[in-house]
Amino acid sequence: MTPALARAALKKYFGYDDFRPQQLAIIEHVYAGNDGIVLMPTGGGKSMCFQIPAVTMKGTVVVVSPLISLMKDQVDGLRAVGIRAAYLNSSQRGSESHTVEQAYENGELHLLYVSPEKLLSNGFFSFLRRRRVCLFAIDEAHCISAWGHDFRPEYTMLKQLKLAFGEVPVLALTATADRLTRRDMAEQLGIPDAKQFIASFNRPNLSLEVRPGQKRREQIVRFIRERPDQAGIVYCLSRKQTESLADKLREAGYNAEAYHAGLTADRRATVQSDFINDKTLIVCATIAFGMGIDKSNVRWVIHYTMPKNLENYYQEIGRAGRDGSKSDTLLFYSYNDYTTLKDMISGGGNSEIQLAKLDRMKEYAESLACRRRILLNYFSEDHSDDCGNCDVCANPPERFDGTVLAQKALSAVARLRQSVGQNMAIDVLRGSSRQEVLKNGYDRVKTYGAGRDMSSYDWNQYFGQLISLGYLYVAHEDYNKLRLAPAARRVLFNGETVELVKFQTIKERKQQEEDKTAKRAAAPRSRGSLFEVLREVRRALAKEAAIPPYLIFSDKTLEEMAAAAPRTELALSRISGVGEVKLARFGAHFLQAIRSYGDEKPSASAGQSEKETRKEREGDIRTPTHLVTYQQYIGGASVRDIARARGLQTTTTYSHLAKAYGEGHDLEIEDLLPGQVIDWIDEAVRSVPESEGRKGVLAYIATHYQEGVVTYHHLDLVEAYRTRHPLPTAS
Ligand code: ADP
Ligand code: ZN
Repeated sequence: MTPALARAALKKYFGYDDFRPQQLAIIEHVYAGNDGIVLMPTGGGKSMCFQIPAVTMKGTVVVVSPLISLMKDQVDGLRAVGIRAAYLNSSQRGSESHTVEQAYENGELHLLYVSPEKLLSNGFFSFLRRRRVCLFAIDEAHCISAWGHDFRPEYTMLKQLKLAFGEVPVLALTATADRLTRRDMAEQLGIPDAKQFIASFNRPNLSLEVRPGQKRREQIVRFIRERPDQAGIVYCLSRKQTESLADKLREAGYNAEAYHAGLTADRRATVQSDFINDKTLIVCATIAFGMGIDKSNVRWVIHYTMPKNLENYYQEIGRAGRDGSKSDTLLFYSYNDYTTLKDMISGGGNSEIQLAKLDRMKEYAESLACRRRILLNYFSEDHSDDCGNCDVCANPPERFDGTVLAQKALSAVARLRQSVGQNMAIDVLRGSSRQEVLKNGYDRVKTYGAGRDMSSYDWNQYFGQLISLGYLYVAHEDYNKLRLAPAARRVLFNGETVELVKFQTIKERKQQEEDKTAKRAAAPRSRGSLFEVLREVRRALAKEAAIPPYLIFSDKTLEEMAAAAPRTELALSRISGVGEVKLARFGAHFLQAIRSYGDEKPSASAGQSEKETRKEREGDIRTPTHLVTYQQYIGGASVRDIARARGLQTTTTYSHLAKAYGEGHDLEIEDLLPGQVIDWIDEAVRSVPESEGRKGVLAYIATHYQEGVVTYHHLDLVEAYRTRHPLPTAS
């Protein structure tokens, strides 16, 4: 078993060209017969670490997983790529498990998934001994540790495994970062010295955003409107919240369902399976939802309220974008949510640690620095660059002198005798004539109406800042009334200035969202795009095969396919995610769809040159012809193939590529420029007088270097190359 063999299997079965960081090292470690601990974030690609050994090593890989509901999907997914996998758990009928046992005994299985109960049931070890087990993979291995957040008593029996099968390597896999849990895990499994493989927790494809928790429902509706046809999860704190939000979203015309532990098991299974199969796009759920879901095309996750700690938060947003394609996450935060959680936690045991973790969560939500840096630093990864994919990076905070604003707020609190909460203070500042304001005579307070010029939304944000900056605090023990901290006196009486961060107003945010929506509408995912067409094909094939659509091809693969629009089987096979079996089974359907899409839209078709010039005359606004060439080229077609298929001269085809490259499209342009052609052309261009034109340049190369090698299309390519890699100007 060699790295080359592993790589070949990766391409053959999964259609991927390269391993992700750590994957190959782990696989080689297993090949050498060693135990290992694998720590990777959700969606990081843990499964590959035992799936590749399964198809390259002699014997069967036994995967122990506590998530019975996932097994079927996992096995379906493997079968779809031609891997022989099966599972055994308590949900099966006897005849079914008998067939699986038979297959194992006949040595027909690459992988066998089992629940811990099944593994430890009577006689199962001796059953396994009838054939050869080449690896035990323990998925969700943190469940073995009482330290972890998901402790499962039945997992502790897994100790027996290493005692009974000392010679078979054990690979423990988890996404739980906690160091103590990890150490305990290794000890419990009897592999205390196993090498640990720790992958980065960074998930750059997930955008991070935190918004103040006001008008959440309206904000959610707008968020969803910007993302038509995308699947997502809204995490809520209570059952009631899940139901009322789902109602509201349905009223707004979206296909949403609630999910929580109070529903019947049947109902929960239906909601889950409709979500997996893209029948229900939106699920409003308590955190119970998601554990049993491997759906790779969840495109967004919203937290209606803040989770208790960053571990939970990271795990929950991690359910988005497992396929590596761009996905969005949004967290609503308000100080009130924080105090609610604080009260909930304070009652329980272990509350000191939990409270400290909650505070870290709050710091994250209130942060004015790159959120990803905070998150990764929390998971002990040092990231010193801003990510560019979070709201703080997108809108770096702008500071301003907030002294007057702070004075108004603090003096309102003082004049209200520190006996009201934030909402009342804001109502008074805004001069509300709400009955409770009048009844208490707050309209006679001097600051009444002093803050009319600002919305309560904005006031809320600034109060939040004044609290974080230590000018105010909240008396939890006394109905969350606002109190002045000592620092407030300095502002009110000693002329201390206060620097605040300008927050976006609702209006600014709305404008921004509208701009975004407009941009999205023009993006490849919009209606009628090739991506949409391919998604329809996927949906139909999934239905026919009775498996979830994402198991046919991931969103990421479809995106690449739509961009490259491959027209031959060879070109299709070069798309990441298209392995041999899927190519044979589904390839023709997708190629057919791409071809007929192209024929309907002449710009993407294999037209003749004549047709092309006509189109250019008519000012075709669809994909420009040089970009069609470009897309086919990066889709894997050769220049000759493209020229033939599109009825172009090869020189024209090259100049299309040169043009695309010059415009900034990615291309390995050096591949098209053999040897020293770039140097030769540079030299010739420098030496030949402009009046001699391109012909002169070619003649120069023919006499000074080599004849018959460089032609006009090389000149185009080098010219494009030099627009992006200019020669240093002679000094
Ligand atoms: P985990 O088990 O860590 O949550 P998975 O093993 O389910 O993650 O992998 C997540 C996704 O990443 C899957 O869609 C998988 O096909 C994909 N993937 C895994 N390894 C690679 C790779 N080397 N190249 C491209 N995609 C990969
Ligand atoms: Zn950032």
